[in-house]
Amino acid sequence: MKKIIIFLGPPGSGKGTQAKKLAADFGFVHLSSGDLLRNILKNPLANDPETEKALAAMKAGLLVSDQYIYKLVFGEIKKHLTDGKGVVLDGAIRNLPQAEEYQKFFQENNLSDEVLAVEISLTDEESFNRLTKRRICVSCGEIIPYLPATRDLTACPKCDGELKTRADDDPEVIKKRIVEQGNIALAPIISFYENLGILRRVDGQPAIEEVAVEVKKAVKAS
Ligand code: AMP
Repeated sequence: MKKIIIFLGPPGSGKGTQAKKLAADFGFVHLSSGDLLRNILKNPLANDPETEKALAAMKAGLLVSDQYIYKLVFGEIKKHLTDGKGVVLDGAIRNLPQAEEYQKFFQENNLSDEVLAVEISLTDEESFNRLTKRRICVSCGEIIPYLPATRDLTACPKCDGELKTRADDDPEVIKKRIVEQGNIALAPIISFYENLGILRRVDGQPAIEEVAVEVKKAVKAS
């Protein structure tokens, strides 16, 4: 089984959820570049000008510079693999130059045989539906994804509270996110891993647990 699992997928595909589940199941470390950046944001004391620039980009909804991401993520990957743990990369690769640079890093560290990319596939239309139609419980904050099993719920399954769509799930903002991070943007990255023969594709349409089973199968067989 490979030790470096790269999750790819459009917004709303559930790749973050699947990455966390896989890490928990296999005792791997879940490495989300977004979480690493948010941790730095919470600890502004340590910030230098480069960090300020990265955080400003993040706050503006733009991508952080590639170099900053490498500095942030490569060290973490090395640290955990040296400790004998596998890593699940979530959101850490967002353009082709990043995919290429990560691969270079893996080669330089004799890790290229340990890499598997898992695409959680979803159409842009379904991506849009999931993000605009997911709801939040006004009482307990539970997020109700837009899935066949949950889309007809009229009250929170945990506390019976009222369900509302999220204020930040604005359709225009979501359209922009899908253009920037959806299937068209992902295509060159997917092709890159496909050409290396290390891509596995899992249908992201079914319920979370069903997708998780397929992800596990793909990773176990690697
Ligand atoms: P996320 O929580 O994964 O949506 O990431 C939050 C924000 O962090 C993104 O909108 C970007 O500004 C930044 N970010 C995270 N990962 C990357 C990456 N690999 N390349 C560039 N920016 C990133």
